[in-house]
Amino acid sequence: MDEQELELNYRKRANRTVLLCAVTFCISRITAEFLAYGSNLQNVVKIAIAACIALTGLLFLQRLNLKSLPFIIPFSMYMSYLVSAYTIDSYKYFSSVYLIALIIVIAYFSVKNYLIFIAVTLTINLLLSIFVLDGHPTVSGSVWMHFALMLIGSLMLFLVLYYAISKSNEIDRAFASFGALMRVTPSALILVDKDNKIKYLSRSVTKVLNVREPKNFIDRNFLELFEDKSVKELLDDIAKKRSFYENHQKITINDQVKTFDVFADKMSSDATSGMFFMLNDISEIVRLKELAEQDSLMDSLIQIPNRRSFDKQISQEWNYASRDRVNLSFLMIDIDFFKNYNDTYGHRQGDELLKTAGKIFKSSLKRSTDFIARLGGEEFGVLLHATNSYQANVTAERIRQTIENEVILTATGEKTKFTVSIGVASVIPGAGMEYSFLIEEADKALYRAKQNGRNRVWVTDLA
Ligand code: GH3
Ligand code: MG
Ligand code: MG
Repeated sequence: MDEQELELNYRKRANRTVLLCAVTFCISRITAEFLAYGSNLQNVVKIAIAACIALTGLLFLQRLNLKSLPFIIPFSMYMSYLVSAYTIDSYKYFSSVYLIALIIVIAYFSVKNYLIFIAVTLTINLLLSIFVLDGHPTVSGSVWMHFALMLIGSLMLFLVLYYAISKSNEIDRAFASFGALMRVTPSALILVDKDNKIKYLSRSVTKVLNVREPKNFIDRNFLELFEDKSVKELLDDIAKKRSFYENHQKITINDQVKTFDVFADKMSSDATSGMFFMLNDISEIVRLKELAEQDSLMDSLIQIPNRRSFDKQISQEWNYASRDRVNLSFLMIDIDFFKNYNDTYGHRQGDELLKTAGKIFKSSLKRSTDFIARLGGEEFGVLLHATNSYQANVTAERIRQTIENEVILTATGEKTKFTVSIGVASVIPGAGMEYSFLIEEADKALYRAKQNGRNRVWVTDLA
């Protein structure tokens, strides 16, 4: 059920009560006239016809506009008075004046005060009735009986109107705040009936789903809102469950892939009830998160993966190698006498060397599965997937030689050279082994390379 249906149901219930009391009022009115005029059945019939016309008009008007019912009821009551007044001579005078006054007052009073207005007019009506009835020559029944019936009827009418108006105001207030909430929410809110026909779309769909005229989609199928096929699968999936929450659902909107958190639930436990959907566009958050994640995995100076990234990668590579029973080789590269280079040419020139080294390492790796990272300072790590110690040695040698032949110019045009030592370890991960073992062994090999005079590769085959 949607917002409007819900409102309609409440109003109908309130209006039914009002109508019932209006009928009671008319009957009590007619009975009063009957008691007052007794034998003059003709007049009573005329009043009854007038009341019937007024009630029919009331029923008709109720269909047109539910909200105006509390206004229409007293108005039609007095219209019936007027009709009676012209048929029964004695009522003629005060009813006409009364009606004119009523119209003026209706025009004058604001909506908020019309309850007071109804109370006042009913009281005047009663007072005038006493006046007229008391001295009326044709009144044959008991004046006080007549008055009591009119009093009961009037009070009933007043109470019912009071109930209807306060209920109506309550509903107005509730729906005003509900509506405001629906309007301000940045999520796309969609209500569909049991046949997936759209019954309500929040304003935000214009922005979130790029729907230009949300109104055009009312009573059309939910799927028409999306050109994306995956939404149909999503909907089928939702239909199977009572409530649904999907994180990071990718949906194409106007050829642009957006990421949504999708929430869906049945409107009630009733099987025939519709569904409520809430789509949060989190594309921007996801984009920023991915950017931040990428940033946190890169070394800002050399623009290659950093230690964090290396830790993730080695854990993954270790699992692959362990599962596929293949070698994983690890090269630990350290720049020789880097401290001296820094001291001689300055820290900034040292940075230039690191950048050059990074570029050479990257370009020396041929396979897409090869992975290089800066482990810290002037230390770098290379992971070679499904590569034995022999092949790893070839790669390490290639790197060492390329570096050896590289010439870096300083800011003053001075030619500088540098070398690296590389420790290589290669292993087929066995049960109970951890990747830290591979790192330790490569570190030991690097130490051996340094010990043996630097600018060399030392290989440890653990396979
Ligand atoms: P070895 O041949 O035994 O490897 O000696 P080394 O001088 O290369 O090694 P050591 O560990 O003594 O010195 C490493 C130096 O690297 C010390 C540190 O100031 C420098 N360093 C670390 N990170 C950076 C950086 O980002 N930029 C620059 N310019 N220097 C750095
Ligand atoms: Mg070092
Ligand atoms: Mg060093």
